[in-house]
Amino acid sequence: MRNYDIVVIGGGPAGLAAAKSAAENGCTSILLIERDTKLGGILNQCIHNGFGLSHFGEELTGPEYAYRAYEELKSVNNGDHPAIEILLDTFVMEITPDKKIYAMNKTDGYFEISAKAIILAMGCREKARGALAIPGTRPAGVMTAGLAQHYVNIDGYMVGRKVVVLGSGDIGLIMARRMILEGAEVLACIEIAPQPGGLARNITQCLRDYGIPLYLRKTVTAIHGKSRLTGITVSEVDDKYTPIPGTEEEIECDTLLLSCGLIPENELSRKAGISINPKTGGPFSSDCHETSVPGIFACGNVLHVHDLADNVTKEAIEAGKAAALYVSGESASTSEQAVSSPKVFPGKVVTPIDPSMAEALATGGPSSSSTQELNGDTAVTRMTCIICPRGCSLTVTLGDDPRVSGNSCPRGESYAISEITKPMRTLTTTIRVRKEDGSITRVSVKSKGEIPKDQIFDLAGKIHHTIIEAPVSVGDEIIPGVVATSGT
Ligand SMILES: Cc1cc2nc3c(=O)[nH]c(=O)nc-3n(C[C@H](O)[C@H](O)[C@H](O)COP(=O)(O)OP(=O)(O)OC[C@H]3O[C@@H](n4cnc5c(N)ncnc54)[C@H](O)[C@@H]3O)c2cc1C
Ligand code: SF4
Repeated sequence: MRNYDIVVIGGGPAGLAAAKSAAENGCTSILLIERDTKLGGILNQCIHNGFGLSHFGEELTGPEYAYRAYEELKSVNNGDHPAIEILLDTFVMEITPDKKIYAMNKTDGYFEISAKAIILAMGCREKARGALAIPGTRPAGVMTAGLAQHYVNIDGYMVGRKVVVLGSGDIGLIMARRMILEGAEVLACIEIAPQPGGLARNITQCLRDYGIPLYLRKTVTAIHGKSRLTGITVSEVDDKYTPIPGTEEEIECDTLLLSCGLIPENELSRKAGISINPKTGGPFSSDCHETSVPGIFACGNVLHVHDLADNVTKEAIEAGKAAALYVSGESASTSEQAVSSPKVFPGKVVTPIDPSMAEALATGGPSSSSTQELNGDTAVTRMTCIICPRGCSLTVTLGDDPRVSGNSCPRGESYAISEITKPMRTLTTTIRVRKEDGSITRVSVKSKGEIPKDQIFDLAGKIHHTIIEAPVSVGDEIIPGVVATSGT
C-alpha cells in the first residue's frame, strides 16, 4: 500500500491550488489524483474568457487559467524530490473515514492508498433530464449544456442546428453564444424564474449581442420526436413555477440544451460518512473547510457551487494550508465542530429585471446590447458593463459630451463610450490542429485583444475553415497580430 501525507482528489483549479498550498505550507508528501488524462478540470472546455481577474489580475480563458494554475503548481514542485506527485487517468472509487483511498487505472489496476489527510476537489455535475422530469419522448438532441460544450469545444462535434436553451445559468448563456458562432440558429433561452440565473454581463454578451430572445417565467412542458428531437412545448408558469394550462406554444427545434443547475459531486464523500448540507449539496464544513470527518477537507465546487474560478482557488488555498497544518499536528480551525454552512464568497449579482427590460429581453431580434429611451427630453442609453463580473448598470446621457453614470470604476465609463461609438469584443473559439500522425485535434484560440463587434462572425468563419499543423504552444500566433492560441 502506498502512503502519503495528503491525497488530493480532483485536478481542477481547486485540486491544483490546494496541492500547491499544502506544499507551500510544509507538506512534502502529496498525491494529486485526476480521472482525466489532463489537469484543469472543467476549465479545459470553458474556452470563453472571464476567468482570473482577481487571482491572476487579467481576464483569461478557461484553458489559460488551467495552464497558469499548473505552472504555479510546478513552481513549488521542482527539485529531485517533488512534493506533489500527479496521477492522471486514475479514478478514485472509494474513500473511508480512516483515510484509505481505493483507486483504479490502466497501469496499476485496482489499488489502495493511505493518507493522513484527504482534500476533496471533485467538482460538480449538471442536472440532467432525469432530474428535471420533463414529460415527452426520449429522442437524441436533448443534453446538458456542459456536455454540449465538451462535444463542441473538445471533440469538435456540432450538436445541432436549431437550438433552444432551457435555463439561463451562465453555462447555458455561454453555450447559446457558442452555438451561434459555430453556425447554429439559437431560437430562444427559456427561464422558469422571473429573472435570469446567469451574470448580467453574460445576458448582454451572449444573448443580447446575438439577438437571442430570453423568455422569463416559462418552461418546457413536453419534448417531441422519435429518433431526433423535432420540437418542444413551452408553457408560462405561475408564481409557484406550475405550468399554466392554455399557455402552451410549440417551438420547432432539433436540440435542447439543459442548463438547470449544478450538483456538487459527493458520492465519495457520502460513502465515507461525511455529513452533507442539504442546502448546498456539499459537505458541512468548518471555517478551514474541514468536513465532519476529521482530516478530510473539501474545496471548490464539491463544497458548494462557485460562479468564479478565482473564488475556488482562494478557498482551495485555505483548504491546502489547513490540511498541511492538520498533518503537522496543528489545527487551523477556530472551531472544534464542523459549522453548519460553508463560507460562500460573493460571486454572482442577480439583478432583478423590471417588466420593460423583461419585454426587451423576450423580443430578441436584431442584436443590441443597449436600450435607448427618453428621460424627459433627454435621450439616454442603458446598458450593462461587461468588463467584470459585477456587471454595473450604466446610463449614458447622450449629447455632444456624453455622460456616464452607474459605473463603479473608471473602466465602466470607457466601456460605455466605446459601446455607443464602436463596440468591441474578444472572440474565443477553437481551431483544428493536424497532429504529426495526421489525426485532427482542437485547441482554443482567442483574438489578440478586442476586435470590432461586427467583425466577430467574419473572424470566427475564417478560423473555422483553418487547420494548423502541430506542434502548438500557448500564445502561438495563428493570424499574426489578430489571433493566438489560448490552450494546448
Ligand atoms: C460552463 C462553465 C462556465 C464557467 N464560466 C466561468 C467564468 O466565466 N469565470 C469564472 O471565473 N468561472 C467560471 N466557471 C466556474 C469555474 O470554472 C468552476 O467553478 C471551477 O472550474 C470549479 O473548479 P473545481 O476544481 O472545483 O472543479 P472542476 O474544474 O470540475 O474539477 C474537478 C476535477 O475532479 C475530477 N474528479 C471528479 N471525481 C473524481 C474521481 N472520483 N477520481 C478522480 N478525479 C475526479 C474531475 O475529472 C475534474 O477534473 C464556469 C463553470 C462552468 C461549468
Ligand atoms: S464599471 Fe467597473 S466595477 Fe462595474 S462592471 Fe464595469 S469594470 Fe466592473
